[in-house]
Amino acid sequence: MTTSAERAQASDPTQLLSQLDAAKLAALAGKVDLAALLKAAAGMNDAQLRQLSKALGLGQSSKPRELPAPDADFFSLMETLSLEQQELAAQVRAFMHAEVAPIMNGYWSRDEFPRQIIDSLRPLDLLRRVWNEDGTRKPGATVTEGLIILEACKVDVSTAVFFGVHAGLAFASVALGGSAEQKAEWLPKMLDLQAIGAFGLTEPEGGSQVSQGLRTTCRRDGDGWVLSGQKKWIGNSTFSDFTVIWARDVNNGEVRGFIVRAGTPGYAVEKIQGKIALRIVENGLITLDECRVPESDRLQAVQGWRTTADILKLTRAGVAWQGVGCAMGAYELAVKYAQERTQFGKRIGEFQLIQNHLVHMLGNVTSMFTLCLRLSEMADQGVMQDEHAALAKVFTAARCRETVALARETFGGNGILLEYGVAKHFADTEAIYSYEGTNEINTLVVGRAITGLSAFV
Ligand SMILES: Cc1cc2nc3c(=O)[nH]c(=O)nc-3n(C[C@H](O)[C@H](O)[C@H](O)COP(=O)(O)OP(=O)(O)OC[C@H]3O[C@@H](n4cnc5c(N)ncnc54)[C@H](O)[C@@H]3O)c2cc1C
Repeated sequence: MTTSAERAQASDPTQLLSQLDAAKLAALAGKVDLAALLKAAAGMNDAQLRQLSKALGLGQSSKPRELPAPDADFFSLMETLSLEQQELAAQVRAFMHAEVAPIMNGYWSRDEFPRQIIDSLRPLDLLRRVWNEDGTRKPGATVTEGLIILEACKVDVSTAVFFGVHAGLAFASVALGGSAEQKAEWLPKMLDLQAIGAFGLTEPEGGSQVSQGLRTTCRRDGDGWVLSGQKKWIGNSTFSDFTVIWARDVNNGEVRGFIVRAGTPGYAVEKIQGKIALRIVENGLITLDECRVPESDRLQAVQGWRTTADILKLTRAGVAWQGVGCAMGAYELAVKYAQERTQFGKRIGEFQLIQNHLVHMLGNVTSMFTLCLRLSEMADQGVMQDEHAALAKVFTAARCRETVALARETFGGNGILLEYGVAKHFADTEAIYSYEGTNEINTLVVGRAITGLSAFV
């Protein structure tokens, strides 16, 4: 809607003449009879006048129009959360931009985790937003945890994985499987990031089938246990103070969990090299060679595989949130790039096909965010079932994969360069897609729930 002041300004001859573009006018004079054109202007409709005005270079401000800042939270879902949660999200966001973003590409290139960020993370006291000292969870813990993961992943998924392994898998192992003494020994130190944990379940020969095919064994021997076997992919294990090792009792086939302290004789960790995703996470190949662990370090409250499954159920929502954050980060980078990059004399964001990519991505991240919020609310209310977490993991991982691919495509060739940011999101998504239950395994979990028929073989 034009105001009367704007209309008066538009018809002021002095104003109009001052806006004329001499070069465009001269070019136009070579093509049309300007006198006849001006006479015809009196009878032109709005569309024709706009066309003429454009040709004469009228009304084009030299100041570039301010474009909206990229924002993946299109439905303002953050505003539905408590003020405390919103402030926490802002703190994590600021931390990631100040402490991680400037160094992450170097560490990604070197296949290394920046251990110094553990010290700079400490003042945020993130674990105490989720867990109580006794290993119970705070009200709204899963939503809060989700927000921490989301904000971290928007910048760097590996940082969120460090947090998820320590504050999720390892912490939950002690919280759910530990005795009162074990919780008192480890949980306060873990809350303060003074003791870092890792979680060793997967084996070279046992990924998806690990619940049935656990080959690592434990054998009672006097006042302790002897552990033998290998664990693969164990995040944080190259520098953790302990790793929770899951093993099968040779006597009765029971699954047991052990706190294996770094430096224990017979326990060796080799860093897995050459990953194309999550290169900042240090994943270890652990060998347990007749590794002796005292009975006091066997997790006393573990009830066989049931406890392991409960831990995984608790953390699976967190992996779904990783997909949300990663996709949101890639989307915002793509919008910014589309607003800035020009081709054929236009910003690429002016091309309909590019807008189609961006809108598709935005639809994905909006539905992923909504789904994970509800999933976490259900977890916090104690009504989330395995199949809910499994569907969220399947859906968000797949949508994330699609979103980061479209984002990368929006960057053209620059999309494969680390310095533009989107390439790391693109690569990291491949790990999100496969861990904590692959696409196929989580699909089978949901399929069994909705049909009542198991398709597992
Ligand atoms: C970066 C990264 C970090 C990790 N961190 C940890 C960690 O900290 N701790 C830990 O314990 N583990 C960790 N893992 C292991 C992860 O959980 C496993 O990779 C995952 O469970 C899949 O196992 P797998 O890789 O052995 O694949 P496999 O189980 O060998 O699967 C290969 C393919 O076969 C399919 N498949 C298998 N069984 C079936 C079936 N019944 N029906 C249909 N399809 C099937 C799978 O879906 C997949 O597509 C990590 C993995 C990665 C990549």
